[in-house]
Amino acid sequence: MIFYSISIVLIIFITVYFRLYLFLFPANRLTILMYHQVEEFSNDDLTVSLHNLEKQFEYLSRRKYHSKFFSEVNNSQPKSIIITFDDGYKNNHDYLPALLKKYNLKATIFIPTRFIQEGYKDYEMMSFEDIGSLDKNFFEIALHSHSHENFKNLTPDFIEKDVQANMDILKSHDIEFSKVLAYPYGKYPKRKDEKEKVFSKLRDNGILFAVRIGNKINYFPTQNMYELQRIDIKGNDTLLKFKLKLIFGKLKLF
Ligand SMILES: [Zn+2]
Repeated sequence: MIFYSISIVLIIFITVYFRLYLFLFPANRLTILMYHQVEEFSNDDLTVSLHNLEKQFEYLSRRKYHSKFFSEVNNSQPKSIIITFDDGYKNNHDYLPALLKKYNLKATIFIPTRFIQEGYKDYEMMSFEDIGSLDKNFFEIALHSHSHENFKNLTPDFIEKDVQANMDILKSHDIEFSKVLAYPYGKYPKRKDEKEKVFSKLRDNGILFAVRIGNKINYFPTQNMYELQRIDIKGNDTLLKFKLKLIFGKLKLF
């Protein structure tokens, strides 16, 4: 019982200390935000309303966050933030250019090429022309696999081919991209040997970083290039919740 209580206190202490440390040394923090769709009104977690997104962007700009692309991540600055959008929805193309320009922010869009070729559910996706036309001062294109399959139970060989197809198709449409991968659904093999094989294939293919979800702030520079964590900004997060997520990542202690 005593041992159990001491362990709990120790875990709480380490967690609080670690988060406090990150908080006190902001130059080492790299916050990566994850969004999907933007619409005038939001009805689900994966869609942020235009109104909420504007309030969040206005806050980042007012509080002087340094909005970056992954290609700029190595010049360490305090309050570094990377804003990311997944899947290539047409509404990103419709709403983001004006908002990013207004608040002088940048966004990285992770493109699963199969969704662009074949569509995804009933959603309207960007075309390759739409993607190519995004202003490079405000948008960075990056990888999200070709198939958008959950990588968790797939072989390292399949994953490698899928990421190569993703890059080849973007190249064939003359779309410049950064060699940064967002795992579909944030998942990759968990078993250590499988995971190492996947990471070594990513390295062989020149992938610089890969991002999962995880809801934590990253400590940068990092050894975990292929396990960077993103903070999931939900469709109906209030501005207060957004501010807390910027500081703590996930809102629960554990
Ligand atoms: Zn996705």
